[in-house]
Amino acid sequence: MTRTTRRPAGPTAPDSTAPDSTGAAPGRTGDPGQDRRRRRSRLLRTVTVIGVLAPLGLAGWLGWRTVGSPDRSVPAAAAGTGTPAAAPPGGADPTAAPTGTPAPGTAPSGTADPAFPLRAVPTATTLAGRTVLLDPGHNTGNSAHTAEINRKVDIGNARKECDTTGTSTNSGYSEAEYSLDVVHRARAILAARGATVVLVHDGDRPWGPCIDERARIGNTAHADAAVSVHGDGGPANGSGFHVIMPAKVVAGKADTAAIVDPSHRLGLLLRDSFHAATGEPYADYVASKGLDTRSDLGGLNLSTVPKVFIECGNMRNPADARRMTDPQWRQQAAQGIADALTSFLTTR
Ligand SMILES: [Zn+2]
Repeated sequence: MTRTTRRPAGPTAPDSTAPDSTGAAPGRTGDPGQDRRRRRSRLLRTVTVIGVLAPLGLAGWLGWRTVGSPDRSVPAAAAGTGTPAAAPPGGADPTAAPTGTPAPGTAPSGTADPAFPLRAVPTATTLAGRTVLLDPGHNTGNSAHTAEINRKVDIGNARKECDTTGTSTNSGYSEAEYSLDVVHRARAILAARGATVVLVHDGDRPWGPCIDERARIGNTAHADAAVSVHGDGGPANGSGFHVIMPAKVVAGKADTAAIVDPSHRLGLLLRDSFHAATGEPYADYVASKGLDTRSDLGGLNLSTVPKVFIECGNMRNPADARRMTDPQWRQQAAQGIADALTSFLTTR
């Protein structure tokens, strides 16, 4: 139930010139007293306008700063949706110029996000010798294999369905398609940094794998870190992303004692990196400040390597759905995920 904390309005508001201060030349009456009074009232009006508009404008500007920056084009339609603050009326919209400037498709891939500085600019060998597991949630074929995916599997502290169909946007873009696309994009970035990238599946099997097998694949690969990519199916009026970290579960086949701490570090990095790369706000309907800890997910319970889930947005929410169906935004999502993993593997 938390929203992104926004920085308070400060003196650096970019719209410090209110419309009134750049208006028509003052009228001359030949009466200095009247001119003074006019100037004073104009000044008062200007100050009032600045006082009212500056916080709004700054909020809008911060929204732009958060949602997109000049080097990562975000369609204007999407840029405004992530911020609750409306642009000030009267053409003083500070979001108009930056969002309209960049051409689509110009966001560099494989480069560090300046808002999430990596220790060093990644090179082709930054992640050499490291193995990353990417787990694209669900499978587009699951819905045609309900018997197989409804079979219960042992997750240590419970028995749970092998997998689920996942969710989709109202227009039918599925979570499985979304997650596989983002994973492909993240794989390209990580591979360019020298990592060995293992996928839990690559859209190359009719259904699944089951959640226990998803964990096993990362364990067998001795992955240095693992991220499971999802889109949530929350209430339509809820939006935002969240990261899910493993709780300490020591029960049956599950023992997360050794991965709780490193997974928590990975989770924090992923929360910050994804937020910086996409501007997506923290979920306002689940988790706290974009972070959740759960003991009921087989993919986490059975993992012996540091692993987290990310619910990149709420696919049932129109604004999130608009972003998640945008390939440009998915590239930013992949960048955020790849940068978090890179940071996790190159820092302590
Ligand atoms: Zn999912």
